[in-house]
Amino acid sequence: MKAAEGEYNVAKKKLEAEMAVDDREIEAKISERGAIAGACEKEMIRVYERVLSAKDDGVALAAVSKYETIEDEGKVVYWQCEACGVGLNMQDVNLLMMGRELQFCRNCSRVMYLRAEPAAPPAPKPQ
Ligand SMILES: [Zn+2]
Repeated sequence: MKAAEGEYNVAKKKLEAEMAVDDREIEAKISERGAIAGACEKEMIRVYERVLSAKDDGVALAAVSKYETIEDEGKVVYWQCEACGVGLNMQDVNLLMMGRELQFCRNCSRVMYLRAEPAAPPAPKPQ
């Protein structure tokens, strides 16, 4: 009985020590992640402010919207920067969807983001 108790206590102490190490590792990882996220955010803010300072209208972001029209050859999908109206190619759209890094409009240089909701088709221009 005493031996079993002793074994149990040794095992318990060992487990507690291992758990303490895990906690320290987890805490280290959390602070590491915080530092990386902080650096990324700072870099994004820096880029954002650079674009902003170059724009007279004070708008550094541009929504990208998807439009669908029915044309002679069937349904046509196209993507457009709402700030300047330039069309995006599929490579631009794919990069934007991946969301790994900031994407800039090739025409107006604003930071693009995908509009969450499908936009209404652009109003017909008055003739
Ligand atoms: Zn644009």
